[in-house]
Amino acid sequence: MMNTTHGAIGVAMASVTVLLAPEFAVVAAVAALLGSVFPDLDLFFGTHRRTLHFPVVGWIVALPATAWAAFSPSTASVGTAFFALGATVHAVTDAAGAGHELRPWERTSQQAVYAHLPGRWVAPRRWIRYDGAPEDLALMGVATLPALILYDGFVRDVMLLALGISVFYTTIRKRMPELTPEWLK
Ligand SMILES: [Zn+2]
Repeated sequence: MMNTTHGAIGVAMASVTVLLAPEFAVVAAVAALLGSVFPDLDLFFGTHRRTLHFPVVGWIVALPATAWAAFSPSTASVGTAFFALGATVHAVTDAAGAGHELRPWERTSQQAVYAHLPGRWVAPRRWIRYDGAPEDLALMGVATLPALILYDGFVRDVMLLALGISVFYTTIRKRMPELTPEWLK
């Protein structure tokens, strides 16, 4: 799944705050976006889909933080909750995609995301065959809709930009292995 798809899913979750607590809607969207994007920073250090991906342990932070935000809404509680929810849902949904490999359409990897608590790799389901697949772009587009409908201004602009980046990424995805610098492979 593309990083932008994860981001769009995070902001879609945050968009409920537009209806429930509009004074926290922007905080929720920004925190959810940052949280949803954050796990893939482990592309650049450590082990990708392992070092910063917490599909099980993440809930230990995300669920209490969500309760904290629900009972005592503030910038800190809402921000913490949506950052943690975004990061945890990202890690969980990575299992719906492909394994972590340079050419995921070749289906050679059985490692979708690492679950720290059982201490093993979760196998890829490949419901989204690979990041940047047409169905990934479709999911990204659908996940962006709540943000485009419910938000205006900065959040809406960022999601439109993400949608544009996703369309571009999808068109060049299969050429990416050639374009990827050696140190990232
Ligand atoms: Zn990821």
